[in-house]
Amino acid sequence: MKIDVLTLFPEMFESPLGHSILKRAQDAGLVEINFTNIRDFAEGQYRKVDDKPYGGGPGMVMMPGPVFDAVEHAKNKSSEPARLILLTPQGKKFDQKLAAELSNEKHLILISGRYEGFDERIRTSLGAEQVSMGDFVLSGGELAAMVIIDCVVRLLPGALGDEDSAADDSFSDGLLEYPQYTRPEDFRGMKVPDILLSGDHKKIAQWRKDQSIERTKNNRPDLL
Ligand code: SAM
Repeated sequence: MKIDVLTLFPEMFESPLGHSILKRAQDAGLVEINFTNIRDFAEGQYRKVDDKPYGGGPGMVMMPGPVFDAVEHAKNKSSEPARLILLTPQGKKFDQKLAAELSNEKHLILISGRYEGFDERIRTSLGAEQVSMGDFVLSGGELAAMVIIDCVVRLLPGALGDEDSAADDSFSDGLLEYPQYTRPEDFRGMKVPDILLSGDHKKIAQWRKDQSIERTKNNRPDLL
């Protein structure tokens, strides 16, 4: 898989992509992540990427020219058709289902906004899917892009070792994950449920399923 990130702050990605699962996946060649600085496509002495909103109002708006050019540049880098994602609080909410869908793509292009967001023509004419992290406003799309990259890459075959398997994770079967315990068996009087120590795998699987349903009912009834 190839992921291209269009951003004004490529340096922000260095640490999150440089550790653990994301680093291993890149080292193993499962994913290639590249950055395009939108400012490289700005014109003029000051390489402006933003300007005042027509009609007045606070803040600055990202101009269409540099974003369109940066997208065309990223698209041309790969022979695979790219799935284009515009990060915006106004898009559909990102979830595990969308992460699984995106993990099957060969090429993703993630467009991070800044300032007061994008000129409307970027939204309407670029042909990008609008995706949001949730009903809140971030200062920029970089953290949103990192969330998508992290969720998608860990689903690529080979990205996780057995010990990190994603199959039982919350949302993968539409439910929240069952309670997990590790050593010690008794921590300050709080004991690991007997069933998990029984060695009866069938009963353990049933207990986990029941717990998942119960937990989902209590914490996230909307998922059921
Ligand atoms: N004025 C915009 C609005 O009300 O829709 C918000 C602009 S926000 C300060 C700047 C950028 O951060 C956005 O263009 C977008 O790329 C990113 N961003 C902010 N909140 C986000 C969210 N919930 N999901 C995805 N991206 C977000």
